[in-house]
Amino acid sequence: MPVDPSPSAPAPSDFIRDIVAGHVAEKLYPKIVTRFPPEPNGYLHIGHAKSICLNFGLAREHNGQCNLRFDDTNPAKEEVEYVDSITADVRWLIAGWADHCLGFKPKGAHPARITSAGQPDFFLGPVPADAPNSEPFFASDYFEPLYEYAVELIRRGQAYVCDLTAKETDEYRGAPDRPGRESPWRNRTAAESLDLFNRMRAGEFPDGARTLRARIDMASPNVWLRDPLLYRIRHVPHHHAGDKWCLYPLYDYAHCLSDYLEGITHSVCTLEFEVHRPLYDWILGSLGLPRPLPHQYEFAKLNLGYTIVSKRKLLTLVNEKIVTGWDDPRMPTLAGLRRRGIPASALRAFVTGVGVTKFDSVTEVAVFENAVRNDLNASAQRRLAVLRPVKVVLTNIPAGELIECMATNNPQSDTPTTRPLALTREVFIEADDFAEAPPPKYFRLKPGGEVRLKYACIIKLDEIVKDTAGRLVELRCTADLTTRAGGPNVARKVKGTIHWVSATHCLDAEVRLYDRLFNVAEPDADGKFLDHVNPHSLEVVTARLEASLARATPHDRFQFERLGYFDLDPKDSIPGRPVFHRTITLKDTWTKV
Ligand code: ATP
Ligand code: MG
Repeated sequence: MPVDPSPSAPAPSDFIRDIVAGHVAEKLYPKIVTRFPPEPNGYLHIGHAKSICLNFGLAREHNGQCNLRFDDTNPAKEEVEYVDSITADVRWLIAGWADHCLGFKPKGAHPARITSAGQPDFFLGPVPADAPNSEPFFASDYFEPLYEYAVELIRRGQAYVCDLTAKETDEYRGAPDRPGRESPWRNRTAAESLDLFNRMRAGEFPDGARTLRARIDMASPNVWLRDPLLYRIRHVPHHHAGDKWCLYPLYDYAHCLSDYLEGITHSVCTLEFEVHRPLYDWILGSLGLPRPLPHQYEFAKLNLGYTIVSKRKLLTLVNEKIVTGWDDPRMPTLAGLRRRGIPASALRAFVTGVGVTKFDSVTEVAVFENAVRNDLNASAQRRLAVLRPVKVVLTNIPAGELIECMATNNPQSDTPTTRPLALTREVFIEADDFAEAPPPKYFRLKPGGEVRLKYACIIKLDEIVKDTAGRLVELRCTADLTTRAGGPNVARKVKGTIHWVSATHCLDAEVRLYDRLFNVAEPDADGKFLDHVNPHSLEVVTARLEASLARATPHDRFQFERLGYFDLDPKDSIPGRPVFHRTITLKDTWTKV
């Protein structure tokens, strides 16, 4: 059984879960089947995490299944790179939590017909996500049956081929307060529409020449019901379907039928689709399909302070080179968050905590950051590192001598372990932890003052050495070795404790320190998010790390004591020259501002 990372957390409850629980109690469906249906036109972002956790959460809570389905009906904007990144991101987010619910199908499998039992017969049910020769679902795999369903709609007089141009179609549609006008092609015979539809598929007509439209109601107050487009001509190859098609279904038409073909029971999406729901039901209803039919339910999107959640706008950040790519650790993409060291469990805890409602709101970024800190505080190994080093010479320790000190790996653990640190004659401390002219109540290193080196001993500053230009060269101190663990004066107290690393037993590393990518809470409130980019969102330093960090691997989680949580970069690190990200600081540094 997969482990719930937060077994003590109460099971989430919300209006969608209540609806599903009701259906389970009524035994309305043999199995709960949901889906997460991204369009492969960009990388997934933190908003999608909410949808993924809701859809997979429902499957998980009811021993059901959730399909990852690419809603790939608009080949002009879609790419295989996005298919691959989305698949990897979803697997990462659900790993160890709901991967047993992930629906997969044999590679290249196409849906056959719905069987007499009302279940799609191509459907295998969940297989291990890494099963060879299996892949997620693609709406484009259903182009053939979707075409046949369209033929059936034409036969039933529910759809017609229309020759209006795109501009004319818009004009005829009217506006919410103004009824639309019927297309002059609306009363075309079914036989004529069938012939034209076939020829549209055969490639006889150029892009935009003709469309297939549903025959519903041009006076409906819901403009989505005013004879919506079902198919359009696009002479472009498709990243998954190849060059077989020049006729592509529109989202609304493909979505409900893809749900049906996959045996989806609950089609959960965000509020902007609420006005599309009557069309969803109309298409399924008009085809007279055998039950059970899927139903659509809507919830409010996740919006996060200081963050953009829109693939299109995130693409602008990539194209304008404001970030280094979709997986730049400052990006709110799942790829960026993962690379930065945010644990999947923290992201799940965050989106679950935010909850599922029907009300649009902006979640404070502090809520997200707290979820990350809570997770990392429990899991991260403590290490010592110095970001802006100043050299300290401990004059009473001979050169070459190595004094072993034991440091605790994780005080939050039930059975904390320790590791050795080397105390040597020369050490580095943080530049911030020394003040030649200290302000009042400064308890770190100052002239004549004492401070404790964590896990080691108390040191006293005797002399400040500068070069001829007046620049600090080193601090000469005496170490009181009787204050070490096991020493007679271990209990001696001083007011300050600082971190340090041995200058001779340490590792140089590039450390990337991040700040928020935008400097206002709602970067796109005025539609000019590019004007609000924080120019100081990245600072790069050469840090000194304790030697044990040479063995770090990506996604080991570390707390560099007093500095924050850090993670080895999987991409830019090279042997002997690691690159670490600061995932997050220990405290919120923004609320003070
Ligand atoms: P974007 O505008 O960023 O491209 P989208 O809604 O167009 O987002 P899709 O690929 O169509 O992206 O979305 C896949 C699923 O994720 C949809 O069901 C959509 O409702 C959901 N989703 C998208 N953005 C959010 C969000 N901010 N919060 C919750 N769910 C979201
Ligand atoms: Mg979209």
